[in-house]
Amino acid sequence: MRKKQKDWAKDMAYQRITRLFELAEHEFSSHPERSNRYVQLARRIGMRYRIRIPAELKHKVCKRCHAYLMQGVTARTRLEGDHITTTCLVCGEQMRRRY
Ligand SMILES: [Zn+2]
Repeated sequence: MRKKQKDWAKDMAYQRITRLFELAEHEFSSHPERSNRYVQLARRIGMRYRIRIPAELKHKVCKRCHAYLMQGVTARTRLEGDHITTTCLVCGEQMRRRY
């Protein structure tokens, strides 16, 4: 029973995180500061329920300043060899990942 409850809570947390990122994307053009707030909330939920932010969403957040990364606005992405380099235009952090 406890296990089930825990799974349920994590599932709910996961859905809330996904939803917050949807909102962040939706609000970015008109209220970019709200996007950062949604990201902050999503991170907090992840920590509280000890779940990871899904990889595809994690790439939308700067790992240093946690700004919401929107291509061409707060982030620039470049291909370098077999890596994708995303630069946060808010703090200048570069994040590399393989593709
Ligand atoms: Zn940053």
